[in-house]
Amino acid sequence: MAAVKEIFGSSVFNETVMQARLPKSIFKSLKKTIAEGRELAPEVADVVASAMKDWAIEKGATHYTHWFQPMTGITAEKHDAFIAPAADGKVVMEFSGKELIKGEPDASSFPSGGLRATFEARGYTTWDPTAYAFVKEGTLCIPTAFCSYGGEVLDKKTPLLRSMEAINVQAIRILKLFGKSVTRVTTTVGPEQEYFLIDKEVYKKRKDLILTGRTLFGAKPAKGQELEDHYFGNLRQRVSDYMKELDEELWKLGILAKTKHNEVAPAQHELAPIFTTTNIATDHNQLTMELMKKIADKHGLACLLHEKPFAGVNGSGKHNNWSISTSAGENLLEPGKSPKDNTQFLLILTAVIKAVDEYADLLRVSVASAGNDHRLGANEAPPAIVSMFVGDELASILEAIEKGEEAQATIKAFLETGVAALPKLPKDTTDRNRTSPFAFTGNKFEFRMLGSANSISGANIVLNTAVAEILEQFADRLEAAEDFGKEVAVLVKETITNHKRIIFNGNNYSEEWVEEAARRGLANLKTSVDALPTFASEKSIALFEKHGIFSKAEVESRCEIMLEGYSKTINIEALTMLDMAKKDILPAVIKYNQEVFTTLKLKKDLDLNISLEKETAYATKLSNLTESLMSKIDELDNILLETKNYEDAVELAKFFREYVFEAMQTLRVVADELETIVSAANWPFPTYVDLLFYV
Ligand code: ADP
Ligand code: MG
Repeated sequence: MAAVKEIFGSSVFNETVMQARLPKSIFKSLKKTIAEGRELAPEVADVVASAMKDWAIEKGATHYTHWFQPMTGITAEKHDAFIAPAADGKVVMEFSGKELIKGEPDASSFPSGGLRATFEARGYTTWDPTAYAFVKEGTLCIPTAFCSYGGEVLDKKTPLLRSMEAINVQAIRILKLFGKSVTRVTTTVGPEQEYFLIDKEVYKKRKDLILTGRTLFGAKPAKGQELEDHYFGNLRQRVSDYMKELDEELWKLGILAKTKHNEVAPAQHELAPIFTTTNIATDHNQLTMELMKKIADKHGLACLLHEKPFAGVNGSGKHNNWSISTSAGENLLEPGKSPKDNTQFLLILTAVIKAVDEYADLLRVSVASAGNDHRLGANEAPPAIVSMFVGDELASILEAIEKGEEAQATIKAFLETGVAALPKLPKDTTDRNRTSPFAFTGNKFEFRMLGSANSISGANIVLNTAVAEILEQFADRLEAAEDFGKEVAVLVKETITNHKRIIFNGNNYSEEWVEEAARRGLANLKTSVDALPTFASEKSIALFEKHGIFSKAEVESRCEIMLEGYSKTINIEALTMLDMAKKDILPAVIKYNQEVFTTLKLKKDLDLNISLEKETAYATKLSNLTESLMSKIDELDNILLETKNYEDAVELAKFFREYVFEAMQTLRVVADELETIVSAANWPFPTYVDLLFYV
């Protein structure tokens, strides 16, 4: 392998490449455009495009694509060759500034939630110059935003960029009050990504994994994760080879893949990159997920990004580590040596606390999906109740401020290992509460409710916008104050008093917390269907409109797309279940019935003096379960037919959740029980042991 330093970013048209390949004046003006987030002048675009094309061709590219993130949650690309006909019957390789800046894909087949009539099916993609272009598999990819002919936003990048702009504007106002002048404030994100790897051949034998990404049947294996022998364990050779190649490919794309290890569940792993600017982190996370799947294939593996591929085994999430940084390199969530005296930090901290409390429902919506419903509130993930953990030290400071007392100075505690040769480790003052959905971890917040398959865009749009809103309220008040010092102290104290209910430092997985949260008036939106409609609430629309993130129509369309997505997912799962139950499980079970009953009859006919008590009971149980399987199949079939009666997106999603999903669960219970008694030779597809414990 080439040196990491050499391959890192080698497929990216980054600043170093730009500087080397662009005329000085063009490079300067491009940098200025990027820094100020403005549109590129056509004459600059032409030069940049031409340099980009030459560079990409040297990297083996023949095509270019406007790479965008529609509402499907994955990325989209349509490839165009650089070729243009030349007079001599040959071709020349061309790529103009216009082609770089703007694309007009026919976009009628992307979800728009009713925003775009098919007669105006054209969509526009525009280059996001703040994200570098890159070469992937012979194609120059240009990160772009995607909107409709009428200008409505149809993607996940545009609103994210807008939310970053909103927080930038408000944070600059706050910093100005502290006498600081910075040109730009950006939010930063480091998303930790969990995933499963299983054997490709075994995967191919499971229709449910292929079509839905999760197992819809499967009895609990004799061994699960109870021994906790997988977490941080030795990597299987195949997995280690896979991770090595994945790292290399990610590095080529300039993605800062840093940490890799085995996770809690068997066959589960994690990858964490070093944090970067939020929109870049979002692009990079999409690319990471894409490459995780592609590279798995090369190693005879299948990568599962679903939140809950296996029932009874830990699911996968994504931890969204989030902070705010200035162009001067200051992290606004860095408490410093003495947080109690750091007014600016306390103000920003309380702004985040207020934002999370006031917009907890939107944060919940931002992580809602059919897949994540299996995880939230199960034993491996935070519940669906949003709360915050700030750690003992900050909690005591906040308490003192609220009571008007002097906060205790921070004393660094040391971990005593009891071994003289080991250095004394300073204890992390923000001790880690692993059960909190939104935890302060030293100098950033870690939002842990995200599902592994989700784009991180949604969560960060909400987070950035909600915090921007509160910073705006704070700035309005503080700018108008006669005595800034006095007012800021009052504001911090008041905010703590009004919003401390969102802070919970205890065990979020406990039953007591669910009751306590209800007493505190915190929402517990258990399923996606409970959560999603709140996205289109008046409060939500007001927030997004005020900060120019979404119009009312855009909010409503997004809500509709999410609800439809939920219903469609459950529908596909139900149909897949029926297909497997009718065509695979039932025939296998009937065949096994034949074996058992033929033997029983044979023995009975011989009329020997042998006991057939147990054998008869076994055959009876098998027969009863077979009958039960057939009736559960019928029930699910009939309930699915009823979905035709619902037109309204909310009502339909509710029906899917309350009836279809429940009927799927009962069908599964019977099938899984049959799996435990039918002979292994008769069972039609690989079991959990085959899936989770491969070599
Ligand atoms: P853990 O597993 O203990 O939660 P990791 O070290 O695996 O922590 O991941 C922490 C993540 O937080 C990394 O992606 C890291 O880059 C990111 N991070 C660190 N500082 C910041 C910051 N200021 N803003 C955003 N993310 C950050
Ligand atoms: Mg984490």
